[in-house]
Amino acid sequence: MDAIADQRARLNKAAADFVAKPKKLLIDGEWVDAKSGKTFSTVDPATGLEITRLAEGDAADVDVAARAARRAFEEGEWPRLRPRDRQRLLLKLADLVEAHADELAEIEALDNGKPVTYARFVDVNMAVDFLRYMAGWATKIEGTTLDLSTGFTPDDQFFAYVRKEAVGVVGQIIPWNFPLVMAAWKLGPALATGCTVLLKPAEQTSLSALRLGELVMEAGFPKGVVNIITGFGGTAGAAIVEHPEVDKIAFTGSTAVGKLIGMAAMKTMKRVSLELGGKSPVVVMADANLETAIPGAAMAVFFNMGQVCTAGSRLFVERKVFDQVTEGVAEVAKSMKIGAGLDPASQLGPLVSAVQRDRVMAYIQSGLAEGGRALTGGQVIGGAGCFVEPTVFVDVNSSMKVVREEIFGPVVVAQPIDDIANIPAMANDTIYGLGASIWSNNLSFVHRLVPKIKAGTVWVNCHNFLDPALPFGGYKQSGVGREMGRAVLDLYTESKSVLMQI
Ligand code: NAD
Repeated sequence: MDAIADQRARLNKAAADFVAKPKKLLIDGEWVDAKSGKTFSTVDPATGLEITRLAEGDAADVDVAARAARRAFEEGEWPRLRPRDRQRLLLKLADLVEAHADELAEIEALDNGKPVTYARFVDVNMAVDFLRYMAGWATKIEGTTLDLSTGFTPDDQFFAYVRKEAVGVVGQIIPWNFPLVMAAWKLGPALATGCTVLLKPAEQTSLSALRLGELVMEAGFPKGVVNIITGFGGTAGAAIVEHPEVDKIAFTGSTAVGKLIGMAAMKTMKRVSLELGGKSPVVVMADANLETAIPGAAMAVFFNMGQVCTAGSRLFVERKVFDQVTEGVAEVAKSMKIGAGLDPASQLGPLVSAVQRDRVMAYIQSGLAEGGRALTGGQVIGGAGCFVEPTVFVDVNSSMKVVREEIFGPVVVAQPIDDIANIPAMANDTIYGLGASIWSNNLSFVHRLVPKIKAGTVWVNCHNFLDPALPFGGYKQSGVGREMGRAVLDLYTESKSVLMQI
């Protein structure tokens, strides 16, 4: 691959103007520097060059933001807004994101490295859809009335109902793989239910969240409702988790950090929802339509350079089609055009950072050292960028690190299925349980297998498709709680039982 020049020169005017502006924290409706005055660098992973510097928020900034979010929740305009006004604001925000789609896609491609075409037609469109979907829920948050059940509370003397109330100030901490989607996914339910927010984007990819923050203010959300703190996890992130004014934490990221956050949040008994890592199985049966299953299995793992929590990173294929499928997936890998995110021809970009590239390469080397064979890939692509070849491993077994651990890169490990009775055990042989896909034309078989797979989402003859109406989350160590769908409302509301003697 040729060396890539400073990509900032390729940006459209709107994106270039945004990137050139000083980057600040959004606190109480104002853009402010970090109290410490510190900044940190955000880097283009295609070139290793600094894009710009960001304000380095820490506990002092989090404290001001948490108090502002508390004031906004208890006083002022926000708690008095009717659900239809919250809905209107969310729809306005979705319209603004849509109106700035090209700009946001370029910012995302530059900062994260993902191909701009995907950023535009997957990430930005998903963010818009999620916001619009959640806007609809703002006017549909319902409690219940109920008949009381014991003689102590006879129905003719008592009236009881359950109210659903916004949980309060919410700290939302998000990862770098889908920065804009994650921000929209988190803000949507919080704002629909009437919460106020402290959002901390990942330190590697904060730019699109900052632009979204500008659009939040342009949409007309009252001050203090959305606060955005850029900075590092151990400082800004940990301060959000510890702050007594924060009522709930919604975290998406690694299982290791999720565990730390869960434990820290319990000190102040915060509500916690966690969307964590995965090692999702892709099961390809011999009766599947291989013309779609082969590219489907390839995209299940290579989409977004494998930096997807539901990446189909463990491939199980019936023995009689094992070679055909694995060689087919390797062919797809070889055919993919690797390049800078801002090159519209790129199908695979760099990994998000040099740290991530080195992590993924260490996994590849461990797979080779443990006896795995790379049908294709296995190499870092030289130069200053963070490019790694898409890699297909065969000759692996279930004790190898590459099979057990989440790699979060374009690496798939393939194993043959000799006895279909073993499929549930093979698929479930992981600490994770986020996603899975089954590729087969035998619907009876599929229906019998689905209940045996321990995963929050099971796709059939597809992989990685999301819809905001479907609850999303993990079994086992892939998380706690379900986001999206009606289910997410429970994460952002408290139930208040009201018992009235009449
Ligand atoms: P990470 O856990 O390192 O970081 C995620 C976020 O947490 C970042 O904003 C980071 O600054 C912050 N953070 C780090 N340490 C913290 C601490 N001690 N206290 C508070 N905040 C802290 O994860 P990552 O490397 O950015 O993202 C990759 C991981 O995210 C993968 O494991 C992936 O599977 C997971 N992920 C899960 C989902 C899902 O929906 N389940 C979606 C995307 C990514």
